[in-house]
Amino acid sequence: MNDIALQRSLADRYIETEALYGAKNYKPLDVVLTRGEGVYVWDVDGRRYMDCLSAYSAVNQGHCHPKILAAMVEQASRLTLTSRAFRNDQLAAFYEELCALTNSHKVLPMNSGAEAVETALKVARKWGYEVKGVPEGQAEIIVAAENFHGRTVAIVGFSTDPQSRGGFGPFAPGFRTVPFGDAAALEAAITPNTVAFLVEPIQGEAGVIIPPAGYLKRARELCTQHNVILILDEIQTGLGRTGRLLAEEHEGIEADLTLIGKALSGGFYPVSAVLSNSEVMSVLHPGEHGSTFGGNPLACAVARAALKVLTEEGMVENAARVGARLMGRLAEIRAPQVKEVRGRGLMLAVELHADAGGARRVCEALQARGLLAKETHEHTIRIAPPLILTDDQADWIADQFAEVLR
Ligand SMILES: *Cc1c(COP(=O)(O)O)cnc(C)c1O
Repeated sequence: MNDIALQRSLADRYIETEALYGAKNYKPLDVVLTRGEGVYVWDVDGRRYMDCLSAYSAVNQGHCHPKILAAMVEQASRLTLTSRAFRNDQLAAFYEELCALTNSHKVLPMNSGAEAVETALKVARKWGYEVKGVPEGQAEIIVAAENFHGRTVAIVGFSTDPQSRGGFGPFAPGFRTVPFGDAAALEAAITPNTVAFLVEPIQGEAGVIIPPAGYLKRARELCTQHNVILILDEIQTGLGRTGRLLAEEHEGIEADLTLIGKALSGGFYPVSAVLSNSEVMSVLHPGEHGSTFGGNPLACAVARAALKVLTEEGMVENAARVGARLMGRLAEIRAPQVKEVRGRGLMLAVELHADAGGARRVCEALQARGLLAKETHEHTIRIAPPLILTDDQADWIADQFAEVLR
């Protein structure tokens, strides 16, 4: 057997073993990665790819950023976990730096994005009963159709995606769904018992769906007018992805609760947080909410470094500039299969016509050219490379799409 055949069988063996023992809740591309650096990852055959997914925007800072790595190693050798039963010397600095950066007053640290969402739902309900005066058990939270907020039972209960919710009921009551991007529908759905409106500034998993200009601003006004908490899920759009630190800045608004996760650790470790700019968070008292790992010193040290490099190295501005360039280049591709190219910053998508044969096929062709991207739903390819992307790399991405789509 020659070298290539030997190596190919190595990748196949990993894939077979996964299939043998693993739950089949994912259908990944058949690429087995072993190393990452910056915008690139390498598979077990030594082939290099440009990563245009960035682990669903968790690796905005690029793979294995040396400064985040150093912070992680240093902290891991000193102290990793105390639980919140005791204090640690990283939490205060994490709070202080995160609040200064995001213009927030309060932070509640968790681990996964779904946990941050659950935390916000709990806070909003408690605020509704204790501050707004909603009768016990009557709190309503409005959500948008086609949302993605995670995978817990409460969250999938208000998903409109049959795959996400089918077979997992019964679900928690107290949620109402309105069409995304429709402020009039939001207004019509608000009742005296509405405590919160939970929404993504741009719907990521739905296929990078950008609402009409002014929608979030109007949602902010309606929430203020009706004493409703605006919860923005910026777990994917936040931390530079759209070319601003938070996507809310595009419409000059501030949410009452902002959820961040994913890139908060630069992909090293699950770290999420609920940010609050009002007195909403003060409804929580000791013992009412928590997490064993939330706010642990390793997470805090990693997140501090991840935030520092994001700003220090100009990644947010880079995302705006290179994102606009990439969008322009993609929009120039004249291919009959392409229905639309859309995006903001480095959160981009190419949507194909329904009869174009599906996005999966395009992703596989891109993979063969050394570009890793993932389809969302049937017909959309998301493009979300690390925010350190250069002009040349952006042009290379556009060239690969042009070759594959033409
Ligand atoms: C990924 C994501 C989540 C869930 O985060 P997990 O860390 O996977 O639990 C929630 N909301 C949005 C918008 C996301 O993109």
